[in-house]
Amino acid sequence: MRKFVVGNWKMHGDRSSLVELDQMAAAAAANPSVDVAVAVPFTLIDRAASRVSALPIGAQDVHERDKGAHTGCISAAMLVEVGARFAIVGHSERRGDQGETSQDAWAKAAAAHRHGLDVVLCCGETQAERDAGRAERVVQAQIEKSLPEDGDGSWLTLAYEPRWAIGTGRTPTPDEIAGIHAIARAKMRMLIGERADAIRILYGGSVTGENAHSILSIPDVDGALVGGASLNAARFVPIIEAAA
Ligand code: 13P
Repeated sequence: MRKFVVGNWKMHGDRSSLVELDQMAAAAAANPSVDVAVAVPFTLIDRAASRVSALPIGAQDVHERDKGAHTGCISAAMLVEVGARFAIVGHSERRGDQGETSQDAWAKAAAAHRHGLDVVLCCGETQAERDAGRAERVVQAQIEKSLPEDGDGSWLTLAYEPRWAIGTGRTPTPDEIAGIHAIARAKMRMLIGERADAIRILYGGSVTGENAHSILSIPDVDGALVGGASLNAARFVPIIEAAA
């Protein structure tokens, strides 16, 4: 499967940061065997998308309704209008900070797909869940509740991001990552059959230029969802190159 490297700027960056996208787009063009995309804050999508047309720009969330009285929310149609090509849904920071559930992620993924956006659907356990030996069951339950029944690899990507590995510099062992990815693949296959085999599963959580190559060599790791190291080209480009 083609590797997929997705940057997630979270609540970082301003207009002056968009210059970083130029080198990221150049690296994407120089490594055509890898798919690359970057999710920027809502306020930067319009400018980012017109700046680097060859590098898909996405959003970090999307509302599940098409329009309505939802103060502060952004619909999929709005994202499409400003040039977004994909949306991240179910990120653990939104689960933790905004109380989002797997059902919310399911509804958001469906809304995004209705409007032609690709979707990166996140799952992953907390430290407490891992300590309790429940990581596998938590991820299986998240997938069961959030996987769109019409999901397939043409628009859907799964990202496994253990919450305790995000921004901490800690990563699971290769065996632990391989184990969860295999379980995630099996769960998707159970739910949607062979179509699951074409859905890429990204690993996310403290991916850097230094560890990218070894993480991307783990079986069933089809790419990376990168936070901190996607904020500037000097740190993100080596991850793109490691995926090539
Ligand atoms: P870090 O790469 O900063 O750990 O963040 C991972 C992440 O949450 C990407 O969505």
